[in-house]
Amino acid sequence: MLQQASPSAELPASLSPSSPGLVIPSQMNGHSSDPNAHGGELREDLQEFLGRDTPLHLLNDLTKVNPVTLETVLRCLQARYMADIFYTNAGCTLVALNPFKPVPQLYLPELMKEYHAAPQPQKLKPHIFTVGEQTYRNVKSLIEPVNQSIVVSGESGAGKTWTSRSLMKFYAVVAASPTSWESHKIAERIEQRILNSNPVMEAFGNACTLRNNNSSRFGKFIQLQLNRAQQMTGAAVQTYLLEKTRVACQASNERNFHIFYQICKGASVEERLQWHLPEGATFSWLPNPERTLEEDCFEVTREAMLHLGIDTPTQNNIFKILAGLLHLGNVRFADSADEAQPCQLMDDAKCSVRTLASLLWLPEDPLLETLQIRTIRAGRQQQVFRKPCSQAECGTRRDCLAKLVYARLFDWLVSVINSSICAEPDSWTTFIGLLDVYGFESFPDNSLEQLCINYANEKLQQHFVAHYLRAQQEEYAVEGLEWSFVNYQDNKTCLDLIEGSPISICSLINEECRLNRPSSAAQLQTRIESALAGSPCLGHNKLSREPSFIVVHYAGPVRYHTAGLVEKNKDPIPPELTRLLQQSQDPLLKVLFPTEEKSQEEPSSQSRTPVLTVVSKFKASLEQLLQVLHGTTPHYIRCIKPNSQGQAQTFLPEEVLSQLEACGLVETIHISAAGFPIRVSHQNFVERYGLLRRLLPRTSPGPYSPFSDEGHSGWSPHAKEATLQPLLQDILRTLPALTQAATPG
Ligand code: ATP
Ligand code: MG
Repeated sequence: MLQQASPSAELPASLSPSSPGLVIPSQMNGHSSDPNAHGGELREDLQEFLGRDTPLHLLNDLTKVNPVTLETVLRCLQARYMADIFYTNAGCTLVALNPFKPVPQLYLPELMKEYHAAPQPQKLKPHIFTVGEQTYRNVKSLIEPVNQSIVVSGESGAGKTWTSRSLMKFYAVVAASPTSWESHKIAERIEQRILNSNPVMEAFGNACTLRNNNSSRFGKFIQLQLNRAQQMTGAAVQTYLLEKTRVACQASNERNFHIFYQICKGASVEERLQWHLPEGATFSWLPNPERTLEEDCFEVTREAMLHLGIDTPTQNNIFKILAGLLHLGNVRFADSADEAQPCQLMDDAKCSVRTLASLLWLPEDPLLETLQIRTIRAGRQQQVFRKPCSQAECGTRRDCLAKLVYARLFDWLVSVINSSICAEPDSWTTFIGLLDVYGFESFPDNSLEQLCINYANEKLQQHFVAHYLRAQQEEYAVEGLEWSFVNYQDNKTCLDLIEGSPISICSLINEECRLNRPSSAAQLQTRIESALAGSPCLGHNKLSREPSFIVVHYAGPVRYHTAGLVEKNKDPIPPELTRLLQQSQDPLLKVLFPTEEKSQEEPSSQSRTPVLTVVSKFKASLEQLLQVLHGTTPHYIRCIKPNSQGQAQTFLPEEVLSQLEACGLVETIHISAAGFPIRVSHQNFVERYGLLRRLLPRTSPGPYSPFSDEGHSGWSPHAKEATLQPLLQDILRTLPALTQAATPG
């Protein structure tokens, strides 16, 4: 049935739609510019033009599906997936389906070279290497070199990190400096060092979650730096919003960051002794250690660290601190009957504190006291009061200590990696940026993390639509064509609701942090609802028992719970914790917590200085990222997960459907299709239909005949709509007769 509804049509090889050149305007191909248009078949004449019997899986570009609906797009992707075709063009984006099985032949260096050497890589099968190569060529093809970026998006487990890694490998091959490998025996080749950053960052920043065994728990933008000769001379990494809570709190059936499992499994006998990690020891922050993952390979991480210039003693220092954190997780307090007395350690936790103190090189008593007792400064004299913490508060302080150390360690590692791979400022002129960000998220329980992630996705979507429309318009202007665009849904209203000024969700949450007043979850909900009632993107589920608000994102509505939102946004670090860590004699902790640094004091209600909240920091880093992206020509890859079980050869339409909706793919295709979705190079057109010349009535005798074979190839500046459109209409109208006449016999 679908075969009938969708023409499943691909232009014959010689009329490859991906080749640039002649375009057929939307009015002629029966494409509706209405994204809601579902019914209808391809116009009979165009169906003839395209050919009827092309199997669905051979359709390389989703803009050729007709009508463009979720269902037709889905069927096409399904047919391709089942035929082991994982990449499909969708206008300006590339859809990448996760094969969930090794497909080594797709990533061979020979194939990379083939895409690199192809005169027109877009004529080869859709692939991430086409995007990679196009991006690479863009850098040099312009008179003024322009930086490029590739934005890889998709939900958890869809293949973003795999894709970015493969693209890095691609550039390591095609953009390697031609100097022979022998001459680089002493100094490690830069491409290799850049690739080595992956296992290290993944060991420290990735974890096994319910949705992905190797899930990135941070966003990453890597800038591959190129010199004038387009050789990769270095790279710089920027990370976003590491999920540091994972170090102290893992959802059931999930795991901590890989590195903890790696040290526990991979440490030698002596290291076990040094790090107090006896075989078979159990740690509460090390759940599910029995699962063996490929990512648990300690040797790979160590080797990569070494190549990045992190020597063995420094590595040992890092691992010793991490072992200390595992012992910190076993520190538990008993409830205190007397509020005036500090909570005592549980019996089995005494040993953990001692071990922790020795591993972090901290004085044991102050360490324990910091976890048990809060110091409060009050009054004009800023007198210090000591207040014993409740059992729950002790736990919170313990978790906070772990998060603080781990987050600093991660940031330090990123800076060390950068200093190892970053090129000297005068040795690069342009860059290709690869963005691997967390996709849109909607769980039954959404909080500040999801708000930030979805906010980032709204910003990227806005950037995508704005850029893509502009890019199309520029292209048509060069061709001298007239066009009319689809009325696409702009997401500005939603962004205004989240980040707009003067009042938005972000500003209201930040305000609560600044005022530092006791505020219940219900109060926050009421404040948001009353202050932002006018926004069409704000919803409220009256049936919900828990205080929450709904944001209607471009990818769908998401309900955020207000409980704990303000506290998470403050992300308070008790100043005593920083002061404690500043007392450490450990060489690395001394670097991470320099004594000169002033610890962040609790904001007082009189404080006028703006509080650096999670949201405000995230917003600032997002703006910086978008500024960088705005200065580049972006390319887009949308990764799709065919099923949530990670099974090969399994395409679950309902699961893919929600992802297609979330990334707005159909809308993207409509935007592409609303213009001139079919592009045929002038040369191909002449080759294929040149024989019709003599049979056609002479139309618009203009200065240039499209059938003249004067050697035009690719985009032709003469291929004006005024000349081609009436001609094409003639062809389509008379095609059956012409075909008959042109067929010998
Ligand atoms: P997250 O947002 O959780 O970090 P992600 O989108 O980065 O997820 P990946 O880690 O890249 O997802 O991919 C998940 C898994 O899918 C990989 O570990 C790998 O097993 C498999 N996979 C992804 N892409 C491919 C591919 N092209 N070929 C083979 N396997 C793949
Ligand atoms: Mg990832």
